[in-house]
Amino acid sequence: MELHCHSYFSLLDGASSPEALVQRASELEMDAFALTDHDGVYGAVRFMQAAHKAGVRPIFGTELTLEGSNHLTLLVQNERGWQNLCWLISQGQANAPKGQACLPLEALDDHTEGLIALSGCRRCDIAIALQVGDFEAAERKARWFLERFGKGRFWIELQHHLYPQDGIAMAQGAALAERLGVGYVATNNVHYARPEERRLQDVLVCIRNNRTLDEAVAFLRPNAEFYLKSASEMARRFHSFPDAIRNSRRIAEQCEFELTPSLQELPLFAVPNGMSGVEYLRHLCDTAIPRRYGETACKVWEQLEYELGVIERSGLVNYFLVIWDVVRFAREAGILCQGRGSACSSLVAYLLEISSIDPIAHHLVFERFLSDERRVVPDIDIDFDSQRREEVIQYLYSRYGHEHVAMACTFSTYQARSAIRDIGKVLEIPLPLLERVIKSIDGHQSSWLTHSELLQTLAAEAPVWQQLVMLADAIGNAPRHLSLHNGGMVLSKEPLAMRVPIEPGAMTGRTVTQWDKDGLEDNGIIKLDILGLRMLSAIAEARETVEATTTGDPFDLHSLSFDDPNVFQLIAEAETVGVFQTESGAQMNMLPRLKPKCFNDLVVAISLIRPGPIQGEMVHPYLRRRAGEEPVTYHHPLLEGVLEDSLGIILWQEQVLQVAQALAGFSGGQGEQLRRALGKKRATQEIERFREIFLQGAAQQGVTQEVASKVFEQLKAFGNFSFARSHAAAFAVPVYWSAYLKYYHPAAFFAALLNNQPMGFWSPSVLVNDAQRRSVRVLSVSVNESNFRCEVVEEALRIGFNYVLGLGERDSRRITLARQAEGRFINLMDFCVQHLVLVHLSAPSLFMTHCVILYADGGAP
Ligand SMILES: [Zn+2]
Ligand SMILES: [Zn+2]
Repeated sequence: MELHCHSYFSLLDGASSPEALVQRASELEMDAFALTDHDGVYGAVRFMQAAHKAGVRPIFGTELTLEGSNHLTLLVQNERGWQNLCWLISQGQANAPKGQACLPLEALDDHTEGLIALSGCRRCDIAIALQVGDFEAAERKARWFLERFGKGRFWIELQHHLYPQDGIAMAQGAALAERLGVGYVATNNVHYARPEERRLQDVLVCIRNNRTLDEAVAFLRPNAEFYLKSASEMARRFHSFPDAIRNSRRIAEQCEFELTPSLQELPLFAVPNGMSGVEYLRHLCDTAIPRRYGETACKVWEQLEYELGVIERSGLVNYFLVIWDVVRFAREAGILCQGRGSACSSLVAYLLEISSIDPIAHHLVFERFLSDERRVVPDIDIDFDSQRREEVIQYLYSRYGHEHVAMACTFSTYQARSAIRDIGKVLEIPLPLLERVIKSIDGHQSSWLTHSELLQTLAAEAPVWQQLVMLADAIGNAPRHLSLHNGGMVLSKEPLAMRVPIEPGAMTGRTVTQWDKDGLEDNGIIKLDILGLRMLSAIAEARETVEATTTGDPFDLHSLSFDDPNVFQLIAEAETVGVFQTESGAQMNMLPRLKPKCFNDLVVAISLIRPGPIQGEMVHPYLRRRAGEEPVTYHHPLLEGVLEDSLGIILWQEQVLQVAQALAGFSGGQGEQLRRALGKKRATQEIERFREIFLQGAAQQGVTQEVASKVFEQLKAFGNFSFARSHAAAFAVPVYWSAYLKYYHPAAFFAALLNNQPMGFWSPSVLVNDAQRRSVRVLSVSVNESNFRCEVVEEALRIGFNYVLGLGERDSRRITLARQAEGRFINLMDFCVQHLVLVHLSAPSLFMTHCVILYADGGAP
């Protein structure tokens, strides 16, 4: 029964993963133990999952850092305690620079309900006062906590790590407890699962303090006593205070809290003038119908009625309104955006302009998103012009308030290279040698050790390298620091800090949750993904250029119907350099065979060239079937309904699930589990288990073993590496838009692509060549004519100063000013020398032919 334990989520302090600790606890036959990482519950979800698997009861808690770097151990008794814990952690995090925490003492005044406090490690004020013999101060401080937590919820913590003074300290702690009339309890302040991990913990502490092992003696613990100890070992150590052991069981019994997943409520969208949410949603849709469909058939109205009914019964009215509001903000601010995800198969999403795809015209099935039988709350991902994404993020903060909005975190983990660099420094390995070794390692290789011969040789020869390899191996996957998830926003009606601790982000005006995307998902918390898509920035910029340089008429991309034969011809001829998702070599090979003629063909095109269909060898059969060179067949008649749309071929993620349902009678939930297992890299056992269930289920439906095996093999090869159909449909929209712009407004299109690099598949030089091939006149950088960005001048594409490496926007402004003051210059190089602007013209990555040769008159290169 250990009540004070750090995992590697006590960043650069704890050495073991939550799983390793649970594993050890289970070997030691503990029935419960507490994870109390410093100022956080980062590992709580993983701890809980591992504990449940191992049959150990998880106790949640934290070790708080209070003002004056004082420590206090807190354990959660119940729901209210969890809320207070999250709130206190958030307060402490908000009150200190990033990566540290410091809770003002007064925060404890009314947030202790549901929490049990242990007086803390040897770094707490009480222990320190006892050490220097100031009993009065120790008692005063202890009483202060006792007043806040109350009898039964404040305990004096006794620790014994074989330090010379520990015996006396223990006795003094026990005496203090008696004087206060409270209990005492034994903890071991665990920092690693097993004694042999002590070295790793030392190294982590050195990394944190930026010291070598020799320099860090003062910081390091003097022995290896901070491992997870068995009950009998603890009992022996505390034999003169048996109550200390008994009390830990007593305390554990009072901590009943379980982290149970539940969906958070989104902030309530304020509906105008007395309407109900659903009335307002209906109103928004009603007014959109004439705009989207003109004078329309009743089919649209019928579908709308039906969808609104399901949405209302699923309790998702507010959810749609909140998302509509974000999109409305973006549209009004001129920020190009569009939704993706299964929600895009709904008419309501189309009418609310969350999605740009007409689900009726494109046969998207609403039930794949939501039905009365299947009420899941789906993530909605929205792609925004990446240059303006931050405006959307800040809109959400200001719309709902900082207490109700935060971003999901990710944990940056140690990779082979960073591990070797950090540990090498601690072990005082000479830097030049260290750098050579690091260079010899492929940063993405998981089996980095065997891939670096240099490292192997060194490790065979010198013990210090051997040690480095061992430590680097052990540190693998340990979190190093917290950073932001790319765009995952969590919105909540209740203050978020009551549910999960919140920290300030590295960027001002942003906050992060202490759970990453998996942690949030496992707790049932949904997020709204505000993603940045560079192609949308380029498309938005090209659109503006078109408006400004042609007739000046407004040019609305959303009013384009997806049926222009010129656009499809361009795609079918694989003239797709720069066009979204269709510009790779593999796409260009395939497109002339597929010959897309309509929007759905674009959906197929971008779905075909994905690892799943390629590995499953489905690309060529599809193309042959489509060309009529091969009949459309199915492995079994049961699959017809499922694979009809894709000519008998598995093309989309959701078809994996549907095939398992149709052929082997899987439930929706089982199918979903199978789909996930197929997507994991090392899930062989799990997949084999599913194979048996699959074969049995298929047999029950009268499918022969041979056919069932064949289909399962196909699912396995397909994996999960493909688009969902709705996702592909959403992505097909920018495919069409970019192809449209390339065909009708090539100069504006290419200028915008160049200004939004890096993106896509091709280098700027290829883009410029392609523009010229399509008869765009390209003008090179000119000191007299260029601006910072590439632009369209009299239908020609003028390269901007942004393509002169080393020249920033500020330099560019200086050039403009100098140009105005002094007239014309001979060439840019001379100008730069004269005005001391530093320009690097030597970078090979630049498309040299256009940029290095600087023409004074700005003529064609
Ligand atoms: Zn401590
Ligand atoms: Zn501790």
